[in-house]
Amino acid sequence: MSGLASHYDPKEVEPGLDEAWETGGYYRAESVSEKPAYCICIPPPNVTGVLHMGHALVCTIQDILTRYKRMDGYNTLWLPGTDHAGIATQMVVERELATEGKSRFDLGREKFLERTFEWKETYRDRIVNQMRRLGVSVDWSRERFTLDEGYCEAVRTVFVQLYKEGLIYKDHRLVNWSPGIQTVLSDLEIDYKEMNGHLWYMRYPLADDPDVYVTVATTRPETMLGDTAVAVHPEDPRHKDLIGRDVLLPLVGRRIPIIGDDVAVDLEFGTGAVKITPAHDFNDFETGKRNDLEKISILTDEASLNDNVPEEYRGLDRLEARKKIVADLDALGLLEKVEDHVHSVGHCQRTGIVVEPMLSDQWFVRIQPLAEPAIDAVRTKDIRFVPETWEKTYFNWMENIRDWCISRQLWWGHRIPVWYCRDCGAEICEMTDPTTCSSCEGTNLQQDRDVLDTWFSSGLWPFATLGWPEETDDLKTFYPNTVMETGFDIIFFWVARMIMMGHKFMGESPFSDVYLHAMVRDEHGEKMSKTKGNVIDPLDVVDEHGADALRFTLAMMAGQGRDIKLNVSRVEGYRNFCNKLWNATRFVAMSTEGLDEEGYQRGLKAMDGHAEQWILHELDTCIEASHAALEDYRFNDAASATYQFAWHVFCDWYVELAKHPLRNDDDPAGKEAVQAALLYSLETMLRLLHPMMPHVTERLWGSLPDFVRGNHPMLIVADWPHRDARFTVDQSAVQAQEHVNAMISAIRNVRAERQVSHKTQLVATISCQDSAMRAGLEAGADQIRALCRLAELHFDSSEQAEPTDGAALSLVDGAQLLVEIPLDEQGKNEEQARLDKEISRCEDTVSHIQRKLNNPNFVDRAPDAVVERERARLEAALEELSTYQQQRSQLD
Ligand SMILES: [Zn+2]
Repeated sequence: MSGLASHYDPKEVEPGLDEAWETGGYYRAESVSEKPAYCICIPPPNVTGVLHMGHALVCTIQDILTRYKRMDGYNTLWLPGTDHAGIATQMVVERELATEGKSRFDLGREKFLERTFEWKETYRDRIVNQMRRLGVSVDWSRERFTLDEGYCEAVRTVFVQLYKEGLIYKDHRLVNWSPGIQTVLSDLEIDYKEMNGHLWYMRYPLADDPDVYVTVATTRPETMLGDTAVAVHPEDPRHKDLIGRDVLLPLVGRRIPIIGDDVAVDLEFGTGAVKITPAHDFNDFETGKRNDLEKISILTDEASLNDNVPEEYRGLDRLEARKKIVADLDALGLLEKVEDHVHSVGHCQRTGIVVEPMLSDQWFVRIQPLAEPAIDAVRTKDIRFVPETWEKTYFNWMENIRDWCISRQLWWGHRIPVWYCRDCGAEICEMTDPTTCSSCEGTNLQQDRDVLDTWFSSGLWPFATLGWPEETDDLKTFYPNTVMETGFDIIFFWVARMIMMGHKFMGESPFSDVYLHAMVRDEHGEKMSKTKGNVIDPLDVVDEHGADALRFTLAMMAGQGRDIKLNVSRVEGYRNFCNKLWNATRFVAMSTEGLDEEGYQRGLKAMDGHAEQWILHELDTCIEASHAALEDYRFNDAASATYQFAWHVFCDWYVELAKHPLRNDDDPAGKEAVQAALLYSLETMLRLLHPMMPHVTERLWGSLPDFVRGNHPMLIVADWPHRDARFTVDQSAVQAQEHVNAMISAIRNVRAERQVSHKTQLVATISCQDSAMRAGLEAGADQIRALCRLAELHFDSSEQAEPTDGAALSLVDGAQLLVEIPLDEQGKNEEQARLDKEISRCEDTVSHIQRKLNNPNFVDRAPDAVVERERARLEAALEELSTYQQQRSQLD
């Protein structure tokens, strides 16, 4: 065996392995293969510039699946890639520019895009290096980026086809606008927060009778400059006579009609009159459509007031305008009152700035025809959600889905492939950039200035990354992908869109399983955030404890549907586990020194001792548990099954049981069998652990003799363990060993409870009437003697052995175990004191119950059952008392 250092050190073990695996070609998938295909496309990481704990979890889970399937004979492709992440990236670069005192407009579109590409390269390299440190086995040769050439082709193909089918259209609509970034936002990019605001009550005088007014209330007084009507309920006796008359809009002087609308006005609520601003409120927009009202935009893209308002308000920021308008109305005596008011306000997720509903021209995808097959796919279980509970969330959203606004007023992204003819107004959308107008043959063309929502391109990820629209071998082999593993927070953004696009363009679901992982929180269950200062940086943890310990911790905690409360001390614990494996491997190396291939093969055939049969049985159980857990995405179960086996079965038991026969040179065949069992179990266990802790297992496995490893160059491509047909385990031998182990535990317990020094040799007697069990225990007598440090071990077939002074008596699997304890004076005194305490406790109980039973009130009034129970308690207490008294008298 190639030597292992005396201690496990991740800094020695981990570096270099990624390179060895990659240069060995083990990360690469085959485009064409006899093997079944297994494919995961990595979710493009968020643009934060650094890997956070959520990424570490994603990398760990997907790498476990990939390594497991690769070992299990699949042609595995784990495809890496990055998303250009439109808004997020553009903002990072704009912020960077701002520190230099520049804006994107100073650079111009072209230079800005160059700069952003540079930034993306740096960021990509950083992320890749961080992923490599975690040991991810992705196929770097197939890495994709959503703005690379082939991918752009895919995006354009999709856009053009949807456009030609009429599923993409342009519309002038009210949208949510981020004044911070100056782009439209989708509903999913807005956070709604409860805010303390005000309700301002304003009076609008009638145009032809200024002494009469209607009162309207609003949370945004500045929007009154864009009012084009006042609505009242047609059946409201207070107001219905006003319908058809006009009010004179204060400060503006515009005549606007009073209309009757039973949708816009709630009879039960407020003043019964509602101001209508179709260009700046979603409900009012609908009211405007119903009543054919004018729409007057009053805001610029930065949300300051534009030229559609009276001069004195122009150019004011919306909040300054609000103050001025309220003051002006008050001065005119038109402000009736102001009330405190809590309401929900939409904020831009990226900038935190309050969004404004604004009228604008945007591109939309007609979503209904795409949503239907996507709903069916999940309903018919063509796609399975794990955990299943997320299906409900998916259906809820998909069944209420609205047309998808796909245009963004950004520069970074896929530019919308539509050209306008400045001469005749024609709109041109083709696969190649047009040079002449298809209608008037003019050349005065202008491309649409907007780019596509980033999710439009990432929605094509499962097939565009495989080369679509080309009919590539990769596409044939790996579409549909096998599993999509991602966070539940992007079910709508991403998962739903991939399903819709997959059905539309590939005619089938893009993957069969969607595994939604939990959220990584701090140890108290709080969300990690910079402001709270509770962020755990995965790279710090890797530096300190190694990638394997972090990966194993995350796997161990990744129970379905539960958030991960990460505590660094757990990582430290699993680093100890790596150390445990290290030491176990060193022990096995020392114990099998000199064993050659023939000896190993002979040993494998001779593993019929009870302990060997037992360890094979435990190994089989672990293999089956791991396999089932991984198939079911129960990573925590897979981790804990292998951990239990490695630490508590192999190291705690088998290694100990093996020590005695290893020392016994009188039985070379028996020794070989034990050596073979040690090597075989260790080697199998390393294979089972490899997907979770790839580095340390690879290193340890590499130290094993060639004849144990078989013809695999590295563990990463060794076979996944299945129940080995060569070994038929004899269940009665397994049971015999279990009895032996139980007996050993029982004797160790006595030693611990009675605080008998480890140096003291004990004498034990086992009384067992079941002859088969007794034979099994007798066969394990040497093990019991050795592991319990017994001076003597007797077997007795009588029902009960005669206890001697101070002996401990216990029942183990139906057999009686008597351990004699030589009491030195101090031990005797302690035991006397302990018994005295027990005796006094029993005496108290007895006298308490006796008092109760001697009380006629209790005996007469309490139900018979209660009295009966007290009598039984008394009897039990008296019996206990007498046992202790007897033991006590033996010590005198
Ligand atoms: Zn034209």
